[in-house]
Amino acid sequence: MDKNCIFCKIISGEIPKEFAFENADIVAFSDIRPIKPVHLLIVPKIHITDFTKLENDLILGKIRIAILGLIEQNKLTDKGYRIVVNGGGAQAVDHLHFHLTGPWGKAAEL
Ligand code: 5GP
Ligand code: ZN
Repeated sequence: MDKNCIFCKIISGEIPKEFAFENADIVAFSDIRPIKPVHLLIVPKIHITDFTKLENDLILGKIRIAILGLIEQNKLTDKGYRIVVNGGGAQAVDHLHFHLTGPWGKAAEL
């Protein structure tokens, strides 16, 4: 928990937010400025600042499973989705998160 971190505040409930997914290690919630009808942020509860600081493959595996469920729930399986992690200074929020966005359509239609 980093007291200055907006995502830590959402995870702790200090800033109320409905979660699309939650388990002991991971939460997912909608992005405040969605770029697509589905724009979810999949976030480890532990405050990890950047992808390069993620040393725990167990967390990565749990994020993978959470994202798989959200792809299915949001009917993106064959509608085109993107999973994006910004880092190395390209990120606005210094608490690791995966963006799941879609539908993007098929590559041939883009
Ligand atoms: P980044 O550029 O760090 O990969 O993306 C950060 C994302 O967090 C942005 O897409 C931004 O819209 C989103 N965001 C920033 N502050 C908040 C917030 O308070 N609540 C929610 N739900 N999303 C936020
Ligand atoms: Zn944080």
